[in-house]
Amino acid sequence: MPELAHLLAAFVVAGLLPAAFALPTPQMSYGEQSVPEGGVTSPVPTVTAPTGSLYGPDSLRGEIVQPSPISGGDSAIVSDYPLVSGQEADADLGLFLDFNGVENPQPIRGTLGQTDPGPQTYEYQKLNPDTFAPSGTDSGSVPQAKWPMGLSHNKFGSGKTSGWARQQNTGQLPSATAMAGVDMRLAPHAYRELHWHTANEWALMLKGSVRLSAINEKGESFIDDISAGDVWYFPAGVPHSIQALEEGCEFLLVFDQGDFTEYGTFLATEMFLRNPKSVLSKNLQTPVSAFDNLPSDQLYIFDGTPAPANISEQNITSSAGIIPQKDSYTYHWSQQQPYTVPGGSVKLIDTTTFPAAANFAAALVTIEPGAMREMHWHLTSDEWNFFLQGSARITVYAAPSSSNTFDFTAGDVGYIPASNTHYIENTGTEDVVFLEVLQQPVFSDISVAQWLALTPRQVIKDTLGLPDSTLDALPKEKTYLKTGNANLTALASDPSGSGAYQS
Ligand code: MN
Ligand code: MN
Repeated sequence: MPELAHLLAAFVVAGLLPAAFALPTPQMSYGEQSVPEGGVTSPVPTVTAPTGSLYGPDSLRGEIVQPSPISGGDSAIVSDYPLVSGQEADADLGLFLDFNGVENPQPIRGTLGQTDPGPQTYEYQKLNPDTFAPSGTDSGSVPQAKWPMGLSHNKFGSGKTSGWARQQNTGQLPSATAMAGVDMRLAPHAYRELHWHTANEWALMLKGSVRLSAINEKGESFIDDISAGDVWYFPAGVPHSIQALEEGCEFLLVFDQGDFTEYGTFLATEMFLRNPKSVLSKNLQTPVSAFDNLPSDQLYIFDGTPAPANISEQNITSSAGIIPQKDSYTYHWSQQQPYTVPGGSVKLIDTTTFPAAANFAAALVTIEPGAMREMHWHLTSDEWNFFLQGSARITVYAAPSSSNTFDFTAGDVGYIPASNTHYIENTGTEDVVFLEVLQQPVFSDISVAQWLALTPRQVIKDTLGLPDSTLDALPKEKTYLKTGNANLTALASDPSGSGAYQS
């Protein structure tokens, strides 16, 4: 062997040069195909890669006589990281840590945690500080309770710029077994195609306005226009259409099946495309040529012609007439005045005022900076929630001894199993607006503060050791919200211990 080639080969063996430098590239070849008795077997692919081109040399196996260098190179030492306000405070205070002011946040809280040398993407840590540097009171493992709709894959409509839809179901959030959600956008005059499905559908308009139409099994018909903040409900099986009015729209759909998929609904176009044309002809008592212009594929979301401004022009009735107002599929919730309490406001909707939505109860809650939706739980229903504005956090306590805290911003879905306690604390500088949806006829919850106020004092003191001064101050009425200090780390430098609720 010439001297240079010998030297190169030695470097390859020593791992100092990539083997590909000196050796042929690997090749794939197929073994000869044989036909055994009783059947044909597929060709068996074999990889022929010269030793050393895909793998390192045998000499890299560790042994005591061949020590590797242990310092230098890609070190795990992290230096120069500023801590944020509240990060050094007692971990059990669980203060909200705002990492937005630092370049390289670290998972450290009080005396717990350690730096993170990476790899990582800091933007996730800034959006999820309570996941990254959890409160010392978090414990064990709680099923994932957050899904950002912004991580959901978008399905575009079939028409040019007609709209899109993205969804959250058990594919994204496996614990969300009772409800699923969809965020849908329609361009001006665009349609969500005539359709129906096996789940009940509850919806909140987010932006703009739409015209809805439907008929029920009695042959009663329904048509209405609704705007941002209004609600609709279509029972399972009831066929409906949705058309955006002149400004277009965006809306949120909630279904009472955790594995519901918006991309799997029954569609008018597909129904016509999937039945014999002779049957269509007979069914509509019309020549088969009437079906010459059927679309060749489903439309789903597509561009439409403008709806007439006068809605009465589109109101068609049988002898059964229109759906009576008590059974209306819409509720003009935007026009309901919120119930104002210290710390924000609450609006409820359930069968009390919207009987058509037989098993949907919802609260639209506004929380001022520093305030929170009080600690509570729901008796038998899971909660599906959606953040319309602001930033907030929720600790989910699951029996018997687990809790995890999750952070939310606008566009995020939250999911809280029945009976798990939770609060929603505003962690930002603007109002939080969020939707709380339950599967029950009437909205209800158990308030932790009210429970303590209405339980014999001796029982509470024997169990929790709370002082009389605390128990004397508990209101016996449910308040829904609790006020708080907008400075979320005030407790870190507050010897009085009242910095969470007093500024
Ligand atoms: Mn629908
Ligand atoms: Mn709740």
